[in-house]
Amino acid sequence: MSEKKDFINDEEIFRLLEEGKNPEKAEIREIFAKSKDMVRLEPAETAKLLQIQDEDLLEEMFSLAREIKEEVYGSRIVFFAPLYIGNNCINNCLYCGFRRDNKSIVRKTLTMDELRDEVIALEKNGQKRLILVYGEHPMYDADFIVKTIETVYETTAGSGEIRRVNINAAPMDVEGYRKLHEAGIGTFQIFQETYHHETYAKLHPKGDMKSDYQWRIYGLDRAIEGGIDDVGIGALFGLYDWKFEVMGLLYHTIHLEETFGGIGPHTISFPRIEPALDTPFTQQSKYKVSDEDFKKLVAIIRLSVPYTGMILTARESPEVRREVIPLGVSQIDAGSRIGIGGYAEAAKGYIPEKEQFHLGDIRSLDEVVREVCSIGCVPSFCTACYRAGRTGDHFMSLAKPGFVHKYCMTNALLTFKEYLLDCPSEETKRIGEAVIQKQLEAFEKESPEKRKFAEDKLKLIEQGKHDVYV
Ligand code: SAM
Ligand code: SF4
Repeated sequence: MSEKKDFINDEEIFRLLEEGKNPEKAEIREIFAKSKDMVRLEPAETAKLLQIQDEDLLEEMFSLAREIKEEVYGSRIVFFAPLYIGNNCINNCLYCGFRRDNKSIVRKTLTMDELRDEVIALEKNGQKRLILVYGEHPMYDADFIVKTIETVYETTAGSGEIRRVNINAAPMDVEGYRKLHEAGIGTFQIFQETYHHETYAKLHPKGDMKSDYQWRIYGLDRAIEGGIDDVGIGALFGLYDWKFEVMGLLYHTIHLEETFGGIGPHTISFPRIEPALDTPFTQQSKYKVSDEDFKKLVAIIRLSVPYTGMILTARESPEVRREVIPLGVSQIDAGSRIGIGGYAEAAKGYIPEKEQFHLGDIRSLDEVVREVCSIGCVPSFCTACYRAGRTGDHFMSLAKPGFVHKYCMTNALLTFKEYLLDCPSEETKRIGEAVIQKQLEAFEKESPEKRKFAEDKLKLIEQGKHDVYV
């Protein structure tokens, strides 16, 4: 694999970033207009956005990012939770608490019984979508991962159930992905960590499985070949220059689109590096991204790939999440615990010796749901697209022209209503019901039939029916 040339050309990225310096206002406005038309940008255009210094243009860019988010995704925010299955790892990635040589970490893999306990705790909180996360270890092969997926789907608590399982694990061969596809996974995520070849080689010691840049960067090509329709890309910001990484994400998107008939990544993730137990690199990196630059990179990704889902994780603090969500984010996790076994041990917010890094937002799902309502968004627990076969090219045909929110807002209301009935505090119930009413009024303005349609479905949920979707 390592003999193969890949599609990230470091020299070309440096050249475009150099040429993009001091962009004219007029050319930036042309690029804005293209994003507004929901057209994916070319690398030379994104490079210019990355070089904007002018305060007015930056403000325009932020407001356009908000507008595009609203146009493509509406005011929905989809909720999920991470579930760490095991922290054994054969690699030594310098930035990660789970790395092989970190003796301060207590190694642990959930048994199937422990996994059930975790799932029940999550379902009791109202979660419907999970991402299962694994270290890289021969123990966590495709058959083991399939077993964990099956266990999650089989485990129900009262009316609670997990309806979509996504995976973040080491890259596999096509056969492995095929097994996961048959087990019914949603998205398979692989973060390239850094797209910069030299930095990649420095941070992933030679001889480790993960040191093979090409094996990793083609990991999602193999996933699609193995039948997985939805794939998620990402870069870990803070390992190298953030502008370079945004370019890498764009080139990766273009590669997938060109290779698979227009189907790009389903989601883009842009985690920032967080402190981790006995992991000095996390404090020392000279490329750590400031909050100001973080806002810019989120808005620039939104403008560059207007129709792709964007995930903001609980690595970020509540304050940063509040500011950044409106700039283009479509999915967040909440109520998250990343210590292995952390949900069943809910009383402990942190279990540092079993965690990969330190989370910035450990508020409850209920609290975050309430906050999302207060910024005018509609929390969604929807899993309908994947179960109705609206994935891959079908999803893209809906997403690209900006139709998603029209299709999905009804499902958001239905799943949110289910959440409100099953779980939370009176306060959340009150605020949440107001959000639903407001959205019904918006439907009414589009057409009275649309409102009636949604109201009829909502009544089914009030009468005790679960899992109603269109
Ligand atoms: N072990 C697999 C792998 O590396 O592909 C699965 C993913 S790993 C458990 C999840 C992700 O966490 C990594 O891809 C990396 O981007 C991120 N990560 C690692 N160390 C981190 C840190 N200190 N702060 C924030 N994110 C980190
Ligand atoms: Fe292992 Fe993944 Fe952490 Fe690297 S990032 S040390 S592969 S868990």
